[in-house]
Formats: sequence, C-alpha cells, structure tokens
Amino acid sequence: MEQRNLTDTECALYGTKSCALLNMSGCEQCPLKGRIADPAIHDDLKLFCELQPEGTVAKLFESETCTLCKTEPKGKAECFAVFDMAHTEPKQLAKRKWFSRQTTGFMVPLQFACCKKCRLRILLSSYLPLIVPIVLTICILPFVMNEHLAQGLRKIAGWFPFALVLIAIAGGYGIGKLLSHLYRRKSEAVMYVDVRTHPIVAEMTEKGWRPLFNDRQPHLAFTKHRIDKGLGSAPSSVYRMPDADEAEPAAEENAAEDKISD
Ligand SMILES: [Zn+2]
Repeated sequence: MEQRNLTDTECALYGTKSCALLNMSGCEQCPLKGRIADPAIHDDLKLFCELQPEGTVAKLFESETCTLCKTEPKGKAECFAVFDMAHTEPKQLAKRKWFSRQTTGFMVPLQFACCKKCRLRILLSSYLPLIVPIVLTICILPFVMNEHLAQGLRKIAGWFPFALVLIAIAGGYGIGKLLSHLYRRKSEAVMYVDVRTHPIVAEMTEKGWRPLFNDRQPHLAFTKHRIDKGLGSAPSSVYRMPDADEAEPAAEENAAEDKISD
C-alpha cells in the first residue's frame, strides 16, 4: 500500500480513526475536503464500524488463502474477486452522497481473496453461455458455406442455411446456460459460487447491507491488486483504533501514524 499523503494538519479529521477509515491516498483526494465542519461525520463512521461483520470486511482481502474455497486445503490467494454492497444508512449520507454516487448511504467494496481455481470456475460458468454458441456456430459454418452442401440445404428451403446458423446461436446459448447452471451447482460443493451465501455476506445482509444490484446474483470483477483507497479498504487494525470521542488527540495521532503505512 502506498504512503498516504496527509498534509492538511488543520483538518479536524487529521490523525483520527475517521481519517484512517476513509483511507484516502491524500487530503486532496478526500471527499470530505472542505466539508468537515459537520461533527456528524464521526458518528457516521462509528455507525459504519458497527455495521461491519465480525472481523470486518478487511478480513476478506487480508487473508492469504482463498476466501471463496469451502473445502480444505484452501487455495493460495492470487487475486481479488470484487463486488459492491450498499446500505441505506446513514440516511443523511444518502442525500449528501458523501461516500457514494448512488442514492444509498454507505457503499463498500467486498474484496474476496481468491485462488486461481475459484477464479477459473466463476469465469467459466459466466462465459459458457457465450462460448457454446460461438463454438457451435464455428462448427456449422463450414457446412453452410460449402457451396455443394449449401445447395443441398437450400433445396429444403432457401432460408434453411441461414436458419441453421440462427439455431446454432440460439440453441448454443440455451445449452450454454444449462451447462453453466450444472457447472455452478457442481462447483458449489467446493466454493461459494453464489457469494450471497458466503458467511460474511450473509452476516452483512442481516445487518441491512444489500448487493448494489439488489436481487441479482452479484457479478464478480477480478483484479490482481486490491482497491486500497476509500471506505472499506482500510486494514482491520484501523477498526481497532479508539473512536474520536474516546481517544486523547496525541494517542489518536500516534495510532494513525502507525496505520498510515502498510
Ligand atoms: Zn478458492
């Protein structure tokens, strides 16, 4: 994690847990720059901590082993599978859009440390409805494009070769969807294919969090390097810092300095 460039020592958040939770790379990038007169910010971020699952969301990206594997031994974490969860609290943030562009309160990226096998399983199940029709169409094209064979097909009906291509695309998509469904069911035995069933997501759902695109199965984006800026990206040690109303300024400052670099 790169060094945070905290230059605004006059800022009311400087050296506090709130600043560490926001985890911006510098004061210039902070969404609260010039807007920190509102003391509710500390309460909002305290609420954010209370809405965390056990171990906080940082547990997902700090793990050295795959957090999507269900069975032992869990794979080595090689990348991150990411999707966003949103909360309707705090209501005033939803209006002010401090933390999110959506009309929600808090928004947090869930970053699952993920092994190569789990990544492959999810990608394969996602792309099967695309791969199968392409393969089927490629297989059928030589028959349709061969003049001798095409003539025979056109004797059935002039449009028949064209219809065959359409059938390959539509049928391939249907077969791909079916294969994807069966493959996901098989994979569910060894990994959390549907992340909504993951214990941390289930716990967050109980606390009022929802996937950003609510009812649909969340689409996972894969990334080699995790998101390390913004709310929800701070390491778990930050959540253990004393709250702004509990700590002496000097103690806060020291604690913050400890967490600035990772
Ligand atoms: Zn895995």
